[in-house]
Amino acid sequence: MTITATCPSCGLVSLTTADVTLYVDQQKYRFQCPCCRGDVDKPSNRRIEAVLRAIGVRAKRFDWPPLTLEDVERFREQLNEMT
Ligand SMILES: [Zn+2]
Repeated sequence: MTITATCPSCGLVSLTTADVTLYVDQQKYRFQCPCCRGDVDKPSNRRIEAVLRAIGVRAKRFDWPPLTLEDVERFREQLNEMT
């Protein structure tokens, strides 16, 4: 499956579904340009999202990094300081 997209420096480029990542929460998709190897961000909408998903593009949601024990300790210290 080939996707045609526009790179700001190279113009029209051909991509495969593996080159594209959909960022659902940020309403954009990103691809790595096969010509200049630059990352290109494009705005997305529900329609584009549906099309990209249908052809097998990976979708990513924004995830917070998991809390570490250090984060918990720091949080507890801050709580102690407040009381
Ligand atoms: Zn390019």
